[in-house]
Amino acid sequence: MIVDAHADLLWEIWKEASEEKRELLVDEAIAAMINQNVLLQVLPIFVPEEVAEERKWEVMLEMIGIAEQMIFSRPEVIRVLKAEDLPSVERKIELKMVAIMLAVEGADALNIHTEQRLQVLHSFGIRMIGFTWNHSNWFGDGAFGTLHGGLSAHGIEAVVVCEQLGIIIDGAHLSEKAFWDLLKHSALPIAITHSNSAHVYAHPRNLTNEQIHSVVERGGCIGLNFVPFLLFDTNSEELQSEIQCWMNHLMTMLDQNARLHIGFGSDFWGADRMIEGINGPNDWSRFLEMAKSEQLLSENDWIRIGSENWLTFFRKMMK
Ligand SMILES: [Zn+2]
Repeated sequence: MIVDAHADLLWEIWKEASEEKRELLVDEAIAAMINQNVLLQVLPIFVPEEVAEERKWEVMLEMIGIAEQMIFSRPEVIRVLKAEDLPSVERKIELKMVAIMLAVEGADALNIHTEQRLQVLHSFGIRMIGFTWNHSNWFGDGAFGTLHGGLSAHGIEAVVVCEQLGIIIDGAHLSEKAFWDLLKHSALPIAITHSNSAHVYAHPRNLTNEQIHSVVERGGCIGLNFVPFLLFDTNSEELQSEIQCWMNHLMTMLDQNARLHIGFGSDFWGADRMIEGINGPNDWSRFLEMAKSEQLLSENDWIRIGSENWLTFFRKMMK
């Protein structure tokens, strides 16, 4: 059973102009999730940088519209709005369904009418938000940004609004300083939906052991992704296999007392390619096979990493 905290399916659909190809994409993606025992898939609304500032809010709503029309209209999709909507293993096997939760990745569009727009997003079913992508915006600094030296005052206000509304905050794309600011100004556990270990591969998108410790202590959850350039130096001659490298990230995270706080955040459709042998949700079982042959972890650990840790986190946060 799989819970995947991050995959860019909505962006992929939005980029596709042909209605027919869009339908096919969704058909294949949902079928793959169900066949591969994906219990819960989080789908972020991601408005790319190149969209003009004044169109960003409109594009955000357009993507929510795509989710409504093409995904939630399907009888095999369960919409996750509250803890009770989260799947249980038994129910899923019986019904052959997949639960979908909407999130936001990058909230440049919320620079004005922030509180109102957060309310609108919540009413449209958004239950998690990562405010920045890699650059800085009104909220604070993304992984590659330095504009504010952390979160802005406006960003700190938005954190409070999210806590009141019940929108989980995803710190995956924050700069390290913004991450620490978030922990300081939020009282709640946070999600890091798709980041890896900076100890294994130093990259601004990855988490230091100290950061991992703090997420764990706070009761948060971290999803590891399958993006090569976030896992190793893609320019150097790689001696290890890519799956071995992914396992190093996992084992390093587990060593930070994180057994109950690690899961998946694949980032499918979010990068040019995923690690070797893995192309999309059709490959979940192949991935598990590859990973299990690399390193001895108990079946219980795989159940926690595969689905239980994220489900426990979401249940706690959405009650
Ligand atoms: Zn991302």
